[in-house]
Amino acid sequence: MPTITWDSKLATVAGKSAPKIEKAFGLRTVGELLRHYPRRYVPKGELSEVGELEIGEHVTVIAQVVSAQQFSYPDRRRGGMAYRLEVVVATEADQLTLTFFDKRKHIADWRKRSIVEGAHGLFSGKAGRFRDRWQLTNPQTKVFSSELAESGLDQAYAAWESLPALLTIYPATAAVQTWQIQDAIALALDLVEEVPEPVPGRVRLEQGLVSARQALEWIHRPGSWQEKGTAEKRLRFEEAFVTQTVLAQRRAALSGLDTVPRPGRAGGLLDRFDESLGFELTAGQRAVGAEILDDLAARHPMHRLLQGEVGSGKTVVAIRAMLRIVDSGGQAALLAPTEVLAQQHHRSITTMLGSLASGGMLGGAEDGTQVALLTGSLGAAARKAALLDAASGAAGIVIGTHALLEEGVQFADLGLVVVDEQHRFGVEQRAALSAKGGTPPHTLVMTATPIPRTVAMTVFGDLETSTLRELPAGRGDVQTSVVPMLERPDWLDRAWKRVREEVDQGRQAYVVCPRISGASADASSQGELAGSDAAAVEDVAPLLSEQTLQGLRVEVLHGQLGSDRKEAVMRAFAVGEVDVLVATTVIEVGVDVADASVMVVLDADRFGVSQLHQLRGRIGRGAVPGLCLLVTRSAPDTPARSRLEAVAATRDGFELSRVDLEQRREGDVLGAAQSGSRSGLRLLSVLRHEEVIQAARESATELVTADPDLSAEGDLAAVVRRLVESEQADYLEKA
Ligand code: ADP
Ligand code: MG
Repeated sequence: MPTITWDSKLATVAGKSAPKIEKAFGLRTVGELLRHYPRRYVPKGELSEVGELEIGEHVTVIAQVVSAQQFSYPDRRRGGMAYRLEVVVATEADQLTLTFFDKRKHIADWRKRSIVEGAHGLFSGKAGRFRDRWQLTNPQTKVFSSELAESGLDQAYAAWESLPALLTIYPATAAVQTWQIQDAIALALDLVEEVPEPVPGRVRLEQGLVSARQALEWIHRPGSWQEKGTAEKRLRFEEAFVTQTVLAQRRAALSGLDTVPRPGRAGGLLDRFDESLGFELTAGQRAVGAEILDDLAARHPMHRLLQGEVGSGKTVVAIRAMLRIVDSGGQAALLAPTEVLAQQHHRSITTMLGSLASGGMLGGAEDGTQVALLTGSLGAAARKAALLDAASGAAGIVIGTHALLEEGVQFADLGLVVVDEQHRFGVEQRAALSAKGGTPPHTLVMTATPIPRTVAMTVFGDLETSTLRELPAGRGDVQTSVVPMLERPDWLDRAWKRVREEVDQGRQAYVVCPRISGASADASSQGELAGSDAAAVEDVAPLLSEQTLQGLRVEVLHGQLGSDRKEAVMRAFAVGEVDVLVATTVIEVGVDVADASVMVVLDADRFGVSQLHQLRGRIGRGAVPGLCLLVTRSAPDTPARSRLEAVAATRDGFELSRVDLEQRREGDVLGAAQSGSRSGLRLLSVLRHEEVIQAARESATELVTADPDLSAEGDLAAVVRRLVESEQADYLEKA
């Protein structure tokens, strides 16, 4: 037998099952197999007495096969045939039925052959009742066929005796039975001599963790719940530790970089902007602003995450940082997730800067700068002008969408990259933009979706974090109500009446719909599910302007409009030439119109909690109180309804993000870059294991500080390299 190592091919331990296991789970090596952990454990317990079973109980019996009959029947869902094997087995005292379902003929036939009449076997599964008999459906099965019935029985008892105290159940598929995985893993554990150890001995000692070898043994063959727990603790820590090591290295690499300090100058654009500001900065804005200005003046690049409630005034903080850069002779780029938002930033920054934004132009301040806009849908001439302004340095501030990341975009001296509404951009995209500067630029990432600390530590662990908790004083309150169409259809009329009243008082309204076009149009053009009848912008807008809200100025805004059109509509809404804006979630992030006081969200249950919170953040931005109406056709006491009620009950974004996260899966939270089989996160939950992440972060930082290249930790270095490569691979796949 050849020596079997961690990196040996799967087939060396799984034999003929290897191709099936690889296909089902993507496992290719012995090491990957050993990192495929059981889905759950059941106590081996005692052999079950059929007479004393309870429905749903997990049972294991040793029994003799009495009869086995195969049936085939048409599989209506899949087409073709499906197969059922009905086996009657007898224990000493009783009989029970085992029913196996198979979709493939050759598997069904193989099963039939393996379950020989007269043979003894070990059968284990959940007890059910069918036609007055106990039945196990698709039980785990080990049959010991033998000419002599007694010896088959002996073998079955011996197999039972040799089972560990906890039976492991692996994620299985029709093609791969859990025992095939068990057998392969058992062989691997017995034969592999060296197991890589990514967690250094000193860290294991500090944290009270067993070795990798011991942990794998105990996760796969625990003798007790305690051993299983000890194994999980160790392996979970390892997952956190490896991720945190990657992040610690990234932080170390960044702090090792040199950049141009940008100290600004007295009497520059920033000072004059501050003087012209029509309001007092909040204490939070001042504190965070000071932190950022300090960072910008330093010799190595800033990497900071700015979290702040919707409406807490992050944009002002960003503008001040950008002006500090311009005052220091550099340029700043602002990356926005949507065209609408990029346009709005361009508009509001230009307005706020006033004459400071017309540098070199007639009527502009002498030492002012220019603000350029670069989006994907600019005409050729406008694009060329914007590119030139960026490359020549004439534009001190360049605002744009993903278009900023394209290759042709160059800057004269990029000193700061601001990324707005971070959750839509990945690490790699930030890096792509940063690479456009000659020296590494400073980076400020802003997000309005509050991120739980643990997620921040995992996903954004290479960033320092600042938080704006308070809203500027004098903000109107926003009252939120659910309008339940099923119980109170009349409330919708009242909602429209409220819209009209607000407009009569000089205010404006948003009406948000989940869809752009109606069910009928979509059914043909996009193959949408017929009968899905969520409100659509193109249906609702004419209805409102011609009937319900007749006489009011109604406009539509959605992602399929051309950028000129979008820009024109937003501008008209911003200056009050439009009363009611019927829109999709294009207005979700950042859109800022102070006079908008009402929002009606139709079929609100189609949106997630965070999304609704973001949407609602569009109103109550001025001093007037806001009203947000969540219209729904969902029934009371459904999860959909309770989500809406949670949104209505609080405006605390951190609270709502918890509600939201509880309902989502880990992968959604981490974003594509960190989810998926390659992330290596199997036992670690970024939501539940805060302490583990914290401890791992400290250990990893300490280690990386002492040994940045991990030269003394070969196994850890290898795992880290693999994780980084898979992240890059994920990025390349998406790009
Ligand atoms: P967000 O954090 O959601 O991006 P913005 O930066 O868009 O918030 O600010 C929301 C609104 O509040 C804008 O109209 C902005 O001009 C205004 N604002 C920002 N800071 C203050 C302040 N300190 N006092 C009063 N209004 C402010
Ligand atoms: Mg904003």
